[in-house]
Amino acid sequence: MMSDDCIFCKIINGNIPSKKIFEDSDLMAFHDIRPIAPVHFLIIPKMHIESLNHFDATHQDLLGKMVLLAPKLAKDFGLKGFRTMINTGHEGGQEVFHMHVHVFGGGANLPKT
Ligand code: 5GP
Ligand code: ZN
Repeated sequence: MMSDDCIFCKIINGNIPSKKIFEDSDLMAFHDIRPIAPVHFLIIPKMHIESLNHFDATHQDLLGKMVLLAPKLAKDFGLKGFRTMINTGHEGGQEVFHMHVHVFGGGANLPKT
């Protein structure tokens, strides 16, 4: 379930501090350490799953929960709209190999990448 050398697993178990926004039994959300928009947070599964390439039909509910959490939390930040991004694999620009959904908001010109 956990990976010893994964920074997001360390954030989940508290070994690396984070600015936590949300947590339940399946998910966690926290602010990105290098925000590229006025609001920029990450939604992650507590289960260590490397990337969207590693999701399958057994993860449908988990994926649904992750996506539905985005508008809920965005609303808490007063955002009427936001952008989501899931980088998948090296070719997809993924740098941390514990799947995560980026949520950006609060800017007139949100970054596309
Ligand atoms: P990726 O490029 O994999 O889609 O995005 C990884 C994101 O994780 C980057 O936006 C990066 O700033 C963020 N990040 C990397 N290390 C940490 C960390 O230790 N804490 C937090 N809060 N964010 C991190
Ligand atoms: Zn992990």
